[in-house]
Amino acid sequence: MRFDVFTLFPQMFQGPLTESIIKRAVERGIIQIHIHNIRDWATDKHKTTDDYPYGGGPGMVMKPEPIFLAVEEVLGKSPEERGDTPIILMSASGRRFEQKLAEKLSQKKRLALICGHYEGVDERVREHLATMELSIGDYVLSGGELPAMVVIDAVARLVPGVIDEESKKEESFTSGLLEYPQYTRPAEFRDMKVPDILLSGNHQAIASWRLEQALKRTQQVRPDLAAKWVQAHRAKQKEEDC
Ligand code: SAH
Repeated sequence: MRFDVFTLFPQMFQGPLTESIIKRAVERGIIQIHIHNIRDWATDKHKTTDDYPYGGGPGMVMKPEPIFLAVEEVLGKSPEERGDTPIILMSASGRRFEQKLAEKLSQKKRLALICGHYEGVDERVREHLATMELSIGDYVLSGGELPAMVVIDAVARLVPGVIDEESKKEESFTSGLLEYPQYTRPAEFRDMKVPDILLSGNHQAIASWRLEQALKRTQQVRPDLAAKWVQAHRAKQKEEDC
C-alpha cells in the first residue's frame, strides 16, 4: 500500500514513521510512504504557500495553487486519472476517524493525505480536490501532520503482513469492546499478582474472564460502546436461537 503525504513540514515525519513496526513494514516493501513538500510546487519566486484570509480575520490560510499542483503531479491531473485513491484532507471539522474507517482504508492500494497548517486550507481544496475530510478528535492541533501520522499508523498496521493477524482480532474497538487487561511475567511483582485464572491453563475459563473484564472496562470508560455491544450481542443471540 502506498501513502502520499502533502505537507509544508516534511521533517515532522522523521521518527514516527521511521521506527518500529512502520519502519519494518517499509523495509519489507509492504507499505511505501512518500512525503511531498507542498512548497516545491509554489508558483512565485518567494515560494509563498500561505496568504491573508479574504474578509479579514487572524492568521494565514494555505493557498490552493501549490496544493492542487502537487496532488495533480503526484496522483494525476483529472479525477479519472486519480481513480479511487482517497484524497484525505486533515481537518478539525472533518468526519471523525475511527477503527471501522481505518479497516476500510486499509483495503485501498493508495491513500493521499493533505496536511493543513496555520488557520487552515483554502476552501477550494476541500471542495474540489479532497474526496474526504478527516478529524482525529474534537480538539484543535497546530497542523495536520500529527493527524496524518495517526491515520497512517492506524491504517498501515491493518495492512496484511504488517503485524501478526491474530493480535488484531481481539483488540480494542475491533470486537466492539475495549481490550481486556494484559499481563506478562513475573507472576508476582511487589505484591501485585497476576490473576490466578490466567495461570490456570483453562482456555475456556480464560476466554470468559477476558470477555467479562472487557465488558466491565468498556461499561466504566465508554458506556456508549458497551450499550451498542450488548444490543448487537442480544440480536445475534436471538438470531442463533431462531
Ligand atoms: N482554523 C481551523 C483550525 C486550523 S488548525 C479550525 O477552526 O478548524 C491547522 C490545521 O491542523 C488544519 O488545517 C488541519 O489540517 C489540522 N488539524 C487541526 N486539528 C485537527 C484535528 N482534530 N484533526 C485533523 N486535523 C487537524
